[in-house]
Amino acid sequence: MESADIIELKHSNNVNLGDISPSHRVAIIGAGCGDVELLTLKAARLISSADALIYDSLVSEDILDLASNECEMHFAGKRCGKPSAKQDDINQLLVACAKRGLKVVRLKGGDPNVFGRGCEEAIFLAKHGIKSQFVPGITAALGCAASAGIPLTHRGVARSVTLVTGTVIDDSTRSGAGWQALLTAQSTLVFYMGKEQAAHIAHGLLTAGANIKLPMVFISSGARVEQKLSFATLGTMAEVANQLHVSGPTLMIVGEVVSVGQELAELINQVENSKNNVISSDKEMSESA
Ligand code: SAH
Repeated sequence: MESADIIELKHSNNVNLGDISPSHRVAIIGAGCGDVELLTLKAARLISSADALIYDSLVSEDILDLASNECEMHFAGKRCGKPSAKQDDINQLLVACAKRGLKVVRLKGGDPNVFGRGCEEAIFLAKHGIKSQFVPGITAALGCAASAGIPLTHRGVARSVTLVTGTVIDDSTRSGAGWQALLTAQSTLVFYMGKEQAAHIAHGLLTAGANIKLPMVFISSGARVEQKLSFATLGTMAEVANQLHVSGPTLMIVGEVVSVGQELAELINQVENSKNNVISSDKEMSESA
């Protein structure tokens, strides 16, 4: 679907997606993890009718293009080396825009409440007498896993999924008990913001008794054209992380499901190869006829 098709939905009589109601002047929206087609219809509609858009660095250009020409655009993320916007300043900007009577969209990568501080902003707004609403987005774990062809749960392999932040390695995680808790039976672990902590994570999981051969994958710029997959095991992940030179965001999936994804990829390769063989032998036959 082209971006323009999504905007067209706003004019459809059959689709009533609702607007930002007067009492909800701020919509805190998840932009999904990159691909514009992973945006919800509700998000697309609210973005296209916003008066002010305050967005983070993980939001892709083609999603920002859904905003109208009149919409005020406020960047509130990290930009190459420059200091990132302070949360206090973002909070104040949200309140100021809402108090001017604008329809405000706060746009965040993935889902606004999965390591997204969406609820912190909603609480700040509420303390200033402003109601807000959340619109969910496809979080990186779901978007990246789908795009890499890896299931997060799989019958007989993984019965649960844990989303973990790699940045805050607090005392509970530092202790053996913390790592042990992450290693509950048949669970897939998805680490956000964890690349820099890869060695520490591997060490913690191995010390807690995880198998050194447990497969894992780094997914960089998942669900985007520049997506890169780097496969490793718990034993090699620190070294692979060191050699990973990528500029986009990186997610880590740890668990036996990674092997299931690799098995699927091999089968798909075989299908493609046999298709190519059929096509080239068809071609040879028609040329020799
Ligand atoms: N709210 C977001 C997460 C923000 S934290 C969400 O729900 O997805 C930022 C971290 O998310 C990054 O450091 C990275 O680990 C992960 N991430 C977000 N988008 C990603 C993408 N397209 N590819 C890989 N990792 C991604």
